Amino acid sequence: MARAPATAMPHRPGMPVPMPWHAAALQAAVASGVPSILVHGTAGTGERRFALAMAAHWLCEAAAGPRPCLECAGCKLVEAGNHPDLRMIEPASMAAEAGEGEGDGEDETVEEKGKGKAASQAILIGQLRPLTELARITSHRGGARVVVIHPADAMNISASNALLKLLEEPPPGMRFLLVAHRLQRVSATVLSRCMRIALPMPTATQAVPWLEAQGIEDAETVLALAGGAPQAALEAADPVRAALSKIWLRCVSEASTTALSAARDTKDVGAPQVLSWLVQWTHDLARVKAGSPPRYYPQQAATLQRLSATMTLRAITRLHRTLALRQRWIRHPLNPQLALESLWIDYLQAMGGR
Ligand SMILES: [Zn+2]
Repeated sequence: MARAPATAMPHRPGMPVPMPWHAAALQAAVASGVPSILVHGTAGTGERRFALAMAAHWLCEAAAGPRPCLECAGCKLVEAGNHPDLRMIEPASMAAEAGEGEGDGEDETVEEKGKGKAASQAILIGQLRPLTELARITSHRGGARVVVIHPADAMNISASNALLKLLEEPPPGMRFLLVAHRLQRVSATVLSRCMRIALPMPTATQAVPWLEAQGIEDAETVLALAGGAPQAALEAADPVRAALSKIWLRCVSEASTTALSAARDTKDVGAPQVLSWLVQWTHDLARVKAGSPPRYYPQQAATLQRLSATMTLRAITRLHRTLALRQRWIRHPLNPQLALESLWIDYLQAMGGR
C-alpha cells in the first residue's frame, strides 16, 4: 500500500503551503524574482493553495531563512485570510460571503445578465477598480502589496483591460499572481506581461496518498472520477468530510475536550467513522512514540508528538487494541450517541483522564 510522505511540518487548515507536487513550481516562481507571474494548470489540483503560498512568500516578514516561514505575523495573516496587503480577486460565485465582490454591473454582458440573481462566475471590472487605489497607497505592513487573480481566465474584457494597465507599469512593491485554467481564454496582452509557470498534474502515486490522508476511502476510484485532480476529488467525494475531519482533529488534540462535547461535535461524523479515525490515530500515536513517522496523519506529526509524550507506549498500544476490537460491533450501534460518547471516554481517559 502506498504511504503518504512524512513531513516534519505541523499542518493547519488554510496554511499557505503548496501541494507536494507543486513544490518545485513554487521554487521556480520564487527564484524568478519577477513581480507578475501567471501559473496555469488543471482546476482542482491545488492551484489556489499555490497562489496563497506565493503570496505568503512575498508577504513573509521573517528576517532570515526560507519564506514563507509560516510563523511570522505576515504569514499568519495570509493563513487567516485577512492580510491587509493581500487582495484575492475571485468570481462572486467563489467568494465566501454572498454578495461581496459583485461588480456594479456596468460591463456585464447579456449572457451574465441572463443569469439573473445567481452570483457571477466572471471577474468583473468592479472587482478590479479598488486595485488602482491599492496601487496609490503605501502598504499597511511596510512590505509588498499582493494581488491574486483566481482564475485569470474568468476576467471579462473590461476587467482584463483594467488589470493590463497595472501590469504595464507595475506600481513599486506590487506583486501579481494570476492563476489560469485555460490559457487560451486569457488575453494575449495580459499573458505577455507575466512570466508563465506550468503547474504539473500530480501522478496517482502522489495524489492517492494525499487523498487517503484527508480521510478518503477508495482514493483511486475517487481520483479517477475527478480526472486525476485531487482537490476536486476531495470536494466531489464528500463536501462536508473535509470540514468534519477538521472538527474531529480539534476534538482529538485539544486539552479542553470532554467526552460529552466531543460526542456532540462529532455527531455528524458518526460513530463508525470516528472509531475508524481513532484507530488510525492511535496507530500513529504508537508509531510516533516508537520514533517512526506517522502513517495516516503525516501532517499532524507535531500534534502526535505532543500527545504521545505524556503516555507510555504500552498505554497507547492498549488503547489502540481496545478501539480496534470495538470495530466489530460499531457498524450498528443501538444508540449512536451513547456509542460516540463511550468511544470518546475510552480515548480521553487513556489520554490523561480528560
Ligand atoms: Zn513568514
